[in-house]
Order: sequence, then structure tokens, then C-alpha cells
Amino acid sequence: MKVYVEKPKCTGCQHCKDVCPVSVFELRDRTKQDEVNADVAPPEMQWKGQSDPAVVQKWGQVQDGHKHFADTNDGTSGGISVAVNGSACILCQACLIQCEGECIVIDDEAGNTYHSIYQ
Ligand code: SF4
Ligand code: SF4
Repeated sequence: MKVYVEKPKCTGCQHCKDVCPVSVFELRDRTKQDEVNADVAPPEMQWKGQSDPAVVQKWGQVQDGHKHFADTNDGTSGGISVAVNGSACILCQACLIQCEGECIVIDDEAGNTYHSIYQ
């Protein structure tokens, strides 16, 4: 399994990390571009310092008890998610329905691709 995060769309909600049973995700500081991009995501999904405007418009002002687009993670939210352990994914799909930015993509060994849709 390969797990990718489209990082410009990541709000830092941390839902992926909270629901993943096999610790695929880690939240890293937005200001540390090299650390955020130290995974297998293709170039177009990597963090270049600019969040996707459409996702900012959707989530930037939402008050739901955790931070959106904050530079650093405080243990509950903030930063950007990095799929540091994608090979452990068991395709439970929990992250795919919890991802605010709809920015998680998973490729399985059979060539199927799964995209996150927030529910
Ligand atoms: S689909 Fe994979 S990455 Fe997502 S929560 Fe389940 S095990 Fe973790
Ligand atoms: S659930 Fe999606 S938007 Fe939230 S931190 Fe994870 S990848 Fe980013």
C-alpha cells in the first residue's frame, strides 16, 4: 500500500493520525519544508509553503475545537500530515472519511486508487 497526502490541502486537523490503527501519519511543522516533504508523495502533492485557497476558504474560519492551518502541532491539531508509514496501511478507510482537506490518496497493490471524501 502507498499512502499520500496532498499537503497544500491539509488543514492539520489530525483526524488521520487519530483514527489510523497502524500509525501511518505524523504531523510535522509547516515551516520545516524538508521534514514535511520527507515521504513518498509525488512532487505535485508536496508542500511549497502555500495552502490550497479553496480549502482555506472552506475550513479557515470553522470553529470546531481544533486549529486549522497552524504552523505547529500542539498534540491535538496543527502542522501538516506526513504519511511516514504507508506500507503498514491495512486499508480500513477510516482516514478517508475523516480527512477535512480530502487530501489523502491510497494506492493498493492491485492498482486501485482511493481518494478521501469527508463525511
Ligand atoms: S486506510 Fe490505511 S492509512 Fe487510513 S486509517 Fe486505515 S490503515 Fe490508516
Ligand atoms: S485528516 Fe487530512 S486534513 Fe486532517 S491532518 Fe490528516 S491529511 Fe491533513
